[in-house]
Amino acid sequence: MPGAAAVATVIEPADRADAAEDGNAARIAGSELNQAGHEQVVFCHDAPTGLRAIIAIYSTALGPALGGTRFYPYPSTEAAILDVLNLSKAMAYKNALAGLDHGGGKAVIIGDPDVMKTEGLLRAYGRFVESLNGRYITACDIGTYSQDMDVVARECRHVTGRTEPHGGAGDSSVLTALGVFQGMRAAAEHTWGSPSLRGRTVAVEGVGKVGSHLIEHLISDGAPVTVYDIRDAAVARVRASHPEVRVATSRTELVSADADVYAPCALGGAVDDGTVAALRAKVICGGANNQLAHPGIDKQLEDHGIVYAPDYVVNAGGVIQVADELEGFNFERARAKADQIFATTKRILALSGQEGVPPAVAADRLAERRMSEVGRLRGIWLGA
Ligand code: NAD
Repeated sequence: MPGAAAVATVIEPADRADAAEDGNAARIAGSELNQAGHEQVVFCHDAPTGLRAIIAIYSTALGPALGGTRFYPYPSTEAAILDVLNLSKAMAYKNALAGLDHGGGKAVIIGDPDVMKTEGLLRAYGRFVESLNGRYITACDIGTYSQDMDVVARECRHVTGRTEPHGGAGDSSVLTALGVFQGMRAAAEHTWGSPSLRGRTVAVEGVGKVGSHLIEHLISDGAPVTVYDIRDAAVARVRASHPEVRVATSRTELVSADADVYAPCALGGAVDDGTVAALRAKVICGGANNQLAHPGIDKQLEDHGIVYAPDYVVNAGGVIQVADELEGFNFERARAKADQIFATTKRILALSGQEGVPPAVAADRLAERRMSEVGRLRGIWLGA
């Protein structure tokens, strides 16, 4: 990673009651920052609206940091700090491999959005984002929606993921699913010599927004599909348009089904020890974030001969979409960029073989290479 000085900034300290916790949290941020190498972490407080937010910028080597705002009832400030540090770092890697001119950042607002979300709080948050002068561009994440970004944008120019009347691009799951499909085609070519999924059974876990769009691509390509979802209504919706889709009655049945590809499109942590042991599929490629339950899973997948297409590479279609929106959204341009996930995934799987490392490690290396090579160019003096 290009070396950047870590700066922890505290803006507008909270009312005094929070001071002790802030001190503690700042110490945690300091030690985490030293370890993780973030450029900047900003604590934002506005007592009248109850806003307590943390904005973390991992890297601006490739451009302004881009990543969503998570509004979540964290049990403690420490938990929020750890989450925002991890999420912002992950965004730097995702944006780098998606070929975007964006560094990685993320923000968290601490609290229950159902209780705390008000116009005043969102606008106060917008003013803090604005104060960073474009070093961080925010968007939606868990607990925040396009309508919220419209409110934030009343105080701040550095916002994307807006509603369509405000130039926004709409549902990002369309391009997320396309990227997952392209990643799956690349993994198929790497594994079986052809990118076609015709005749390759795909087990899709979670048929919400991403999973259901993915199924459309799979069926068009001639892949038999088996699904499992905890919500019967989601399964019924898929079956209404595609009665040929098979339904597993439990997660265990889905995972141990005679399938070629397993596509986790529900929650993080889906690929755990039990799943690896039960899985008959030779490829894992899905839209869910943080699929690997723990770091040792990489090695287990390798030992079982299972090809894993790294989640943050194949599910980058959503961030590609919100990045495109910053230029005035053009679906075809964003779609072409999401299609490139095919080539990126192929490159990562090839590098994994050449360097004898798991695909997730190969992906990290490629991302770090791009951040370093392109970030270095900032050192070329442009003249006065
Ligand atoms: P969603 O809420 O529309 O769909 C998730 C589906 O998973 C729902 O139908 C839900 O019932 C099902 N589900 C939940 N728990 C389950 C379980 N234990 N077993 C089986 N099914 C379960 O969400 P989404 O937008 O489709 O996102 C799916 C995943 O992809 C999430 O991990 C999300 O973080 C990730 N992701 C989404 C996008 C995007 O653009 N929407 C972008 C990047 C990553």
